[in-house]
Amino acid sequence: MSNALEIDLIPVLRDNYVHIVREPASGAVAIVDPSVADPVVAALEARGLAPDLILCTHHHPDHVGGVPGLRRHYRAQVVAPAAERQRIGTADRWVDEGDEIAFGGTTARVIAIPGHTAGHIAFHFSREKVLFCGDTLFSLGCGRLFEGTADEMWHSLLKIRALDPATRICCAHEYTEANGRFALSLEPGNAALVERMREVAALRRAGRPTVPTRLDRECATNPFLRPESPEIRRRLGLEEADDVAVFAEIRRRKDRF
Ligand code: ZN
Ligand code: FE
Repeated sequence: MSNALEIDLIPVLRDNYVHIVREPASGAVAIVDPSVADPVVAALEARGLAPDLILCTHHHPDHVGGVPGLRRHYRAQVVAPAAERQRIGTADRWVDEGDEIAFGGTTARVIAIPGHTAGHIAFHFSREKVLFCGDTLFSLGCGRLFEGTADEMWHSLLKIRALDPATRICCAHEYTEANGRFALSLEPGNAALVERMREVAALRRAGRPTVPTRLDRECATNPFLRPESPEIRRRLGLEEADDVAVFAEIRRRKDRF
């Protein structure tokens, strides 16, 4: 059995990505975080696909807005976070930490990652080493704290950081270039970050996405996963602080950057 998932990005709205996921062994198809319906329907039709599953990471309109339109076209099962049931309204299955979702011959496991929203979840395909993490971890960045504390977000990021380093990180926005400018302001001496930004600039010039990214790469370059970095701590004047305090200060500074 193949242990790869085919992942396609559909760029929609200003900077959102909707993911089309295919399991080659069974032909099963999933859509992740459909902000809108029409471009997703068009992309599915162009590929001759129909979704079996629609996975939503959190209640923001740019992640669930396309669900009603897709439901009119397809008989897919809509899976959404139980903790955001009041906000989302309609789904076929409400899930929380540890729940398993069958997808063709494989399984996604739900990881609760609150912080950006109170009920935000990720979908983890451990066998294929793929994580759909919505607006929690971005390439070189992390989501804003709309409904959670820095402490909650940091613990969510720790859960992600504990996954296999080769995990593909599929996030829902193309924010990498702006995130990287902030990252460089904190850690200009990080050679891996400088190199990544060269690559990001080339990708964007070519009109190509900078995601998915990979967990090991993010751990080496993303300041929100690096509160242990002596360079970042020195720059913030927080040499002796604990990791969550450093993380909180990085998040505050990014909000004003
Ligand atoms: Zn969001
Ligand atoms: Fe979003």
